[in-house]
Amino acid sequence: MMKRLIEKINNHVDKIEGSHVLYWMQAAQRTAHNPALMAAVDKANRLGLPVKVLFVLDAGFKDANLRHFTFLYEGLKDVKASLEACGIGFEVKQGSFVEVLENDLKVAAALFTEPAYLDFLRTIRSDIYQKASAMDIPVYEVTTNLIIPVKAASEKVEFAARTIRPKLLRQVDAYLFDETPAPIENRTTNASAYLDGSGDAFFEAMDIDTAIKPVGSFKGGQKAAHEQWESYLKHGLMRYDASGDPAKDITSKMSAYLHFGHISPRKMYADVRWLLDSGSIPAKAAEAYLEQLLIRRELAHNFTYHAEGYDRFETMAPAWALKTMRDHAEDRRGYVYTKTDYLAFATHDPYFNAAMKEMVKTGYMHNTMRMYWGKKIIEWSKTHREAYETILTLNNAYFLDGRDPVSYASVAWCFGRHDQGWMERPVFGKLRYMNDKGLKRKYDIEAYVARCNKL
Ligand SMILES: Cc1cc2nc3c(=O)[nH]c(=O)nc-3n(C[C@H](O)[C@H](O)[C@H](O)COP(=O)(O)OP(=O)(O)OC[C@H]3O[C@@H](n4cnc5c(N)ncnc54)[C@H](O)[C@@H]3O)c2cc1C
Repeated sequence: MMKRLIEKINNHVDKIEGSHVLYWMQAAQRTAHNPALMAAVDKANRLGLPVKVLFVLDAGFKDANLRHFTFLYEGLKDVKASLEACGIGFEVKQGSFVEVLENDLKVAAALFTEPAYLDFLRTIRSDIYQKASAMDIPVYEVTTNLIIPVKAASEKVEFAARTIRPKLLRQVDAYLFDETPAPIENRTTNASAYLDGSGDAFFEAMDIDTAIKPVGSFKGGQKAAHEQWESYLKHGLMRYDASGDPAKDITSKMSAYLHFGHISPRKMYADVRWLLDSGSIPAKAAEAYLEQLLIRRELAHNFTYHAEGYDRFETMAPAWALKTMRDHAEDRRGYVYTKTDYLAFATHDPYFNAAMKEMVKTGYMHNTMRMYWGKKIIEWSKTHREAYETILTLNNAYFLDGRDPVSYASVAWCFGRHDQGWMERPVFGKLRYMNDKGLKRKYDIEAYVARCNKL
């Protein structure tokens, strides 16, 4: 069954003279429910070799700052403890991905890793795979952070949720299988010396961007991710169909854990399906959750994987949306603000300012407010292009779940991607518009503001 998740990237055969099977862990920072780790262990058992897990900390990682690195570092500590306990070697190295991998590959029998969905990570992989091929080392990519591999889901850019939904639903049951790992036959005690203490010395040596500080609202790692998830299954999920209200705060808060691969979306899907199929929670709540976790999340990965220029203003939106923005390029803006105003919580709009506080101080923002926030920046920016750049920059700098395929798809959604045309109006043209009247009519929005003002 697990074979469906594995893609062999080159034609080389396993190098039996290698000293271990190498798993370059990048996107799936966990040991639980990790098919890439399982596949590496399986291969190592067959070859009579140990597995080594390598994690590379590259200070040049696009848009990553201290907030992200701190969350990541907390997760690596969990990985280390867990690998040590089961006899798998773990090394954390600083440096450029390609250089570190090139060096480590020299003694490997085979390379396992996860596929990437963003262009810069795919370029890094392609460089590494070339080096591996030059050394006759077989390379395997194993889908670990999606329920259905991106290419199996669809071979093309999907237009909207309604076009990818039937493709995903048709296949999903074939991907629900047991993720219990095989026992490790060749144990090693060769663990990393790093990862003791808070990480300060580590980050200093790496020279990373420290302007945006870590947050106490979320702790990284597979342990925290599973605790949050178990608690949500018991206390939150049954009300998920009412989760659109930002005042109620009843979404799962799993997005950062999914981004760092601290938890498996397949495990999450299976848990919710079990509760649904056994009638243990209201169907409306479970189905609404699976719509986000499976359909919307995998649609976002389809977008960044297949759409050329997913991260550029000229190409991220559909043609009708780009045209309507051109038609309304000269429209007068009622208010004009900049990033500095947003970060000082200094617009005239208390709901927007509250949302900005949630983002800056917690690394998170409720989905309804993310939509409102993006739409307001479009309304208040001198140009649509400037709005796009502002939204994407803030999104990826402050959110712990930023820099994800979902980030690019969601920001593009503000500009018409995966959406439809609406009634034409100034500045927005046919792009969907949102205003504060909607927030006041539908939600207890003052309670949301009060909560954010206490942060
Ligand atoms: C302008 C804008 C920017 C956004 N930026 C990001 C981002 O940088 N990173 C990010 O992960 N999400 C982003 N989202 C999508 C969504 O807001 C977050 O995924 C969600 O708020 C995370 O909270 P949660 O885990 O409590 O979600 P829940 O409501 O509990 O949903 C469960 C999971 O489903 C997935 N999901 C939920 N909503 C969406 C969606 N609209 N599209 C795709 N997948 C979804 C997420 O993985 C989420 O963790 C953005 C949305 C907008 C409108």
